[in-house]
Amino acid sequence: MPPAAPSWLSLDHVWLPYAQMATAPLPLPVVGATGVRIELADGRGLIDGIASWWTACHGYGHPHIRAAVAAQLDKLPHVMFAGLAHEPGYTLAARLATLLPGDLEHAFFSESGSVAVEIALKMAVQFWKNRGEERHAFIAFRHGYHGDTLGALSVTDPASGFHDALAAYRTVQRFAELPRTAVERAEFERVLAAQCHEVAAVIVEPLVQGAGGMRFHDAETLAFIRAACDRHGLLLIADEIMTGFGRTGRMVACAEAAVVPDIICLSKALTGGTLPLAATVAGTRVFDAFRSDRFDDAFMHGPTFMGNPLACAAANASLDLFEREPRLQQVAAIAAQLAAELEPCRALPGVVDVRVKGAIGVVQLATNQASALRPAFVTRGVWVRPFGDVVYLAPAFTIEREDLATLTAAVREVVTEWSQSSRGHG
Ligand SMILES: *Cc1c(COP(=O)(O)O)cnc(C)c1O
Repeated sequence: MPPAAPSWLSLDHVWLPYAQMATAPLPLPVVGATGVRIELADGRGLIDGIASWWTACHGYGHPHIRAAVAAQLDKLPHVMFAGLAHEPGYTLAARLATLLPGDLEHAFFSESGSVAVEIALKMAVQFWKNRGEERHAFIAFRHGYHGDTLGALSVTDPASGFHDALAAYRTVQRFAELPRTAVERAEFERVLAAQCHEVAAVIVEPLVQGAGGMRFHDAETLAFIRAACDRHGLLLIADEIMTGFGRTGRMVACAEAAVVPDIICLSKALTGGTLPLAATVAGTRVFDAFRSDRFDDAFMHGPTFMGNPLACAAANASLDLFEREPRLQQVAAIAAQLAAELEPCRALPGVVDVRVKGAIGVVQLATNQASALRPAFVTRGVWVRPFGDVVYLAPAFTIEREDLATLTAAVREVVTEWSQSSRGHG
């Protein structure tokens, strides 16, 4: 007999994310996590294929991050960021300025990705206001995802399955196709020319659109978007909340296209998956538009837990690990292994595409019900969370070859079973 479920596990008082609470199954109770393994209350272990929404890039419980957070906990767990300063926050801001391309040198801290996007949108609107222009629209891309708060959901493609219910609350925005082909580029150029006086900024997830379906575009497309923004005098916001910190093979995805956005949003892997933290980092042009002798030109935002010292200590420790350990080589090795081991899925009936970018491997299916495959992965001792039409892996960069092979084997098996049974049903 398996051990009974823990007594605290009930849905009486907890409201789950992205869940229909009338039918949501009980989540799996977790009692620990080390490296790439999640330990369940009943003693089973799961190999994590998605690193807790791509945050735990060094695996769970990395000793260097734990030690840094423990030391900070002894000194100063939290203090407000207004009027008071602490070393981990100021050091982190300076390290981000060094790490990021171009003149992205002014970090505004918050505690989640969606809020980092809100801050970027507010910065863009006020950038123009401080220069005497009213611009309230944004151009975002089909299949893009930028978060769940009202501003962020406004620039998230409703067709990607998020936020249809809140359509009436969307602020002014336009959705464009990613300008990949000559025709799409001409159309994008036309939209920018027609609307550039109302548009505050273009917002894009560089190279990989994550929660909207793990769709990739190339560096040339990103460079085209930057050049088009320049031609029409628009700001470019790069939402690197998913792609930042090595996931696509570089520290930031923009670097692959030699693109410097005007504002970049970072979160997810910023603390190595340890604590919530985000940064909205502005370039000089944006920052300077807020500096004047008028207080009204100042940026009015200040989250209570802004720059939390524990989270900043975790982020600094995570950056140490990127400096000391061969993370980007590990990502390249993961990419090669994912490409080789997921490739056999391509031949299966019902598989639309197999693609790999950095430490992201995707098998796209001809169904929008890929989430139905979740239990089959748990049965195989792995944690993989298909959604929409994709089964994807985005593991910790420290994953061992054999563990990654277990994950890719599970994907091949589950997708093969699905392919056979869905064919069987005609
Ligand atoms: C996860 C994500 C967000 C939202 O971050 P939260 O911390 O969940 O609010 C925004 N943009 C992208 C690209 C993301 O992947």
